[in-house]
Amino acid sequence: MSHYDYIIVGSGIAGLYTALLAKERGKVLIITKGNIDDCNTKHAQGGIAAAIAKNDSPKLHFKDTIAAGDGLCNTEAVRILTSEAPARISDLVNLGVPFDTVNGEVALTREAAHSVSRILHAGGDATGKYIEITLSKKTRSSRIQVLEDCLVTDILVENGVVKGVNALDCHTGLVEEFDCRFLVLATGGAGQLYEFTTNSYVATGDGIALAFNAGAEIVDMEFFQFHPTALRLPGVTPFLISEAVRGEGGILRNVDGYRFMPEYDPRAELAPRDVVTRSILYEMKKTGSDRVFIDVTHLAPYVITTRFPHIYRFCLDHGLNITKGLIPVAPAAHYMMGGVKTNTWGETNIGGIFVIGETACTGVHGANRLASNSLLEALVFSHRIIDRTTVKTEVEIPRQDNKNRHSLSQRHITEALPPPSLSALQQLLWDKVGIIRSREKLTQAADTLASWQKYLPPATDRPSHELSNLIITGRLITEAALIREESRGAHFRTDFPQSLPQWQHHIILVK
Ligand SMILES: Cc1cc2nc3c(=O)[nH]c(=O)nc-3n(C[C@H](O)[C@H](O)[C@H](O)COP(=O)(O)OP(=O)(O)OC[C@H]3O[C@@H](n4cnc5c(N)ncnc54)[C@H](O)[C@@H]3O)c2cc1C
Repeated sequence: MSHYDYIIVGSGIAGLYTALLAKERGKVLIITKGNIDDCNTKHAQGGIAAAIAKNDSPKLHFKDTIAAGDGLCNTEAVRILTSEAPARISDLVNLGVPFDTVNGEVALTREAAHSVSRILHAGGDATGKYIEITLSKKTRSSRIQVLEDCLVTDILVENGVVKGVNALDCHTGLVEEFDCRFLVLATGGAGQLYEFTTNSYVATGDGIALAFNAGAEIVDMEFFQFHPTALRLPGVTPFLISEAVRGEGGILRNVDGYRFMPEYDPRAELAPRDVVTRSILYEMKKTGSDRVFIDVTHLAPYVITTRFPHIYRFCLDHGLNITKGLIPVAPAAHYMMGGVKTNTWGETNIGGIFVIGETACTGVHGANRLASNSLLEALVFSHRIIDRTTVKTEVEIPRQDNKNRHSLSQRHITEALPPPSLSALQQLLWDKVGIIRSREKLTQAADTLASWQKYLPPATDRPSHELSNLIITGRLITEAALIREESRGAHFRTDFPQSLPQWQHHIILVK
């Protein structure tokens, strides 16, 4: 058994950046379930938001973030996010991330619900790839120990304080214990819960399930962002067509070629993601089609090929020249706003456990994430975790939040359902806990998930652990969506279509 100062689970932007800072403070181990570069981070296209332009300010970035969050952002966390953003961007530049420039100045683009151009990007539309490669290269050449193909299966807690983790070596099947002073969960999102998702296959909600089982508070799970525009081609994974494509002038048309967005929202194609997503769904229903289209044929071809080389190339490889033809798209599950509840130092309610990146709920996104704020969130709060663990070397047990806490409700289980396949689970969540929800569908999903969980055989390998984690995460989303009897941000219920003032609070789930 080995002992570390920091064990970091996950090697996306959150895990790697934290590790690179932590290595100056002690002995660091990264445990990651695949290759170091298997993560959502490397798929990020649009970029990373920061108020660095002359016509911008952290105050304006704050205002836009709060507006997108639809009444549920933690204002202090957003103030920290937006004011510390420029310093964290400088850190990335110093680490070697090659952000795109125009005439020697950093190039900035605009995305939906940002009031000015403030998105930095790299390689045109390959921002995440450049960030991931830069950070993983630095990590590999440092003294940080990295265990690849190793899946964390349990968090060990003693007297309210973290002791370490158990991890499964995916090659040998052996489980080993690793002990630490500080555990940082950076395991990313849970898009694999849904039939259509932009997320990598690693996004199976592991960190949420591990933390929940260890006694952590889980919050805001009903808010799952669906991206309005993922490529919809038969047999092709729903590859993301970045918001920046609409930011640069892309127009949404229905199957009849009609530009529909101005009828739904005055901000048209640049309305917030949840508005565009639902508008597309309504338009698909109205026209009896499973897709709409993005039209960029009016843009100069060089704008498309230089600004979106990755998207251009991917579509071309699938027989679509987007400078000449329309891009078929439909919504797909994209980003989990909820997660393990943390304070503004990344601390949870369990001593020594910190959570960061998409697994965390720091409160910056509220009910709906502003585009390009998530890479930024990972950087800002990773930095704060290291600040905190440097100042407070003794592990403390934080106070619990006793308001609005719920445990998973007892479900009426009539029969033992056989364990589901991953695709059956994804279909259930897509159909019943997706973009448009109702009590009836949510209740059906909650009952099925509870039954699946109850009769699931013990997990032994990576796929069975991931399935079990997805079922727990799916239950948390479903139960929170049932409790919230209103519509707000990304959570929309046909039986409660309005936002209600009495629901302007968070729903916390505990075991
Ligand atoms: C297609 C796409 C485009 C996006 N575009 C943008 C954008 O332009 N701007 C923006 O801000 N955000 C964007 N996002 C969101 C953003 O990329 C993610 O929120 C962010 O990268 C998450 O980083 P992370 O470090 O938290 O998780 P990830 O990058 O997903 O890393 C998670 C890591 O944890 C590991 N892991 C998981 N479970 C375990 C376990 N049990 N044991 C060991 N290891 C484990 C995984 O293998 C992985 O290494 C996009 C997301 C997608 C999918």
